[in-house]
Amino acid sequence: YDYLVKSHLKGASLGRAVRYTLGRARARGGEWDSPMFRLAQQQFLKAAQYMNLDDNIRQRLLFPQRAQLVSFPFFRDDRRQVETVFGYRVQHVLSMGPTKGGIRYHQGVNLGEVAALAMWMTWKCALMRLPFGGAKGGVRVDPTALSKSELQRLTRRYTTEIIDMIGPDKDIPAPDLGTDEQVMAWLMDTYSQQVGHAVPTVVTGKPVVLGGSLGRREATGRGLVYLIEASAAHLGLDLAKATAVVQGFGNVGSHAARFLDELGVRVIAVGDVSTGLYHPDGLPVEALQAHVAEHRVLAGYPDAEPIDNAELLELDCDILVLAALQNQVTVENAAQINCRLLAEGANGPTMLEADDILQERGIFVLPDILGNAGGVTVSYFEWVQGMQNLTWGLDEINSRLKSILLDAFQRTLHRARQDKLDMRTAALIEGVSRVTEAKLLRGVFP
Ligand code: GLU
Repeated sequence: YDYLVKSHLKGASLGRAVRYTLGRARARGGEWDSPMFRLAQQQFLKAAQYMNLDDNIRQRLLFPQRAQLVSFPFFRDDRRQVETVFGYRVQHVLSMGPTKGGIRYHQGVNLGEVAALAMWMTWKCALMRLPFGGAKGGVRVDPTALSKSELQRLTRRYTTEIIDMIGPDKDIPAPDLGTDEQVMAWLMDTYSQQVGHAVPTVVTGKPVVLGGSLGRREATGRGLVYLIEASAAHLGLDLAKATAVVQGFGNVGSHAARFLDELGVRVIAVGDVSTGLYHPDGLPVEALQAHVAEHRVLAGYPDAEPIDNAELLELDCDILVLAALQNQVTVENAAQINCRLLAEGANGPTMLEADDILQERGIFVLPDILGNAGGVTVSYFEWVQGMQNLTWGLDEINSRLKSILLDAFQRTLHRARQDKLDMRTAALIEGVSRVTEAKLLRGVFP
């Protein structure tokens, strides 16, 4: 109990002291501890407090059900020295069906981060009413420093290490930060070699030729923009006259920027790890995508003013899309965020205290578990198509995606207005309620 409260107070004013208690539940578990896991727990506790959640369920949902930590040897291409690499796979809730969630390759990955991401996957899948619990995986490595053959060996060995945990009816990985279709193809191949036949349904976000789904690659960005359209209609914001800033230009941000551009939104700034770019008249999104396809990063693009990440976040705009890393909007900069709509394509980009400030300032937030749910929703379609050995056309996929997202948006908005809650808490309550109902129906074994 103490560690949740105190960690929350660190860096925050006393006036914003956490009001969300554990009830009779216990939050000891040092091995999970990390800023991101605390954020996920605090958000959950906030929702639990508002919904008066059963104490036993609160305790059960506060930690993942399963986690595997692996270390394995890894040779760089020069084969001079063996490195020890750490990897994780965490399954948060096993009560809803197989678990689902991406695999992240990043130098900062740790157990607490993966656990937080797994917990968010649970709420996200439940909010979308998909038959999955949440999971996540990760490897602590900087993938941008690896050659293609290094990436392949690392992926195959990591897959082998977690192979008992995954499977089409057990736990289905997908891409996340630092992984892509190629990584999913290697994962699928490694698993298939072990069982002796092709098993495309062990993973989603695969290349289409291996059983991937049309529309999966753009799904997160496309879904986010469907939700931005719905939010704009709710806010009375005319998108043809609106401006947007996009932080992150990877698989989520670059597609979100392109779909916004297609709607006539002026994208005045974008940023990635290498640089930020600003142009008050709007940036040519397609040209930026072409530049990144060639050079991997935005740096070096000629016709725009460079801008740093802090400035980018504080630009005056209608729509701010966060599609990079966690922990971007904090108690330090929340008062300087100048948008009407904050759209979260990333997981966990906004800290708990910052949420309070954004709410006081009347900024409408599309929270991560809703905003970026397009990815896992089309992953679900991919899995369903694979299980039935049939394929759907792109129009069918996009229209199903839209209806699932808009239904979740309307339920969340309705709850937020009815109970006078922020959108994040309303979305969490939607997700947590569904999981609670399932847990109560299944009961306790033995
Ligand atoms: N990594 C994505 C997410 O955070 C997608 C997960 C999936 O498709 O399973 O939602």
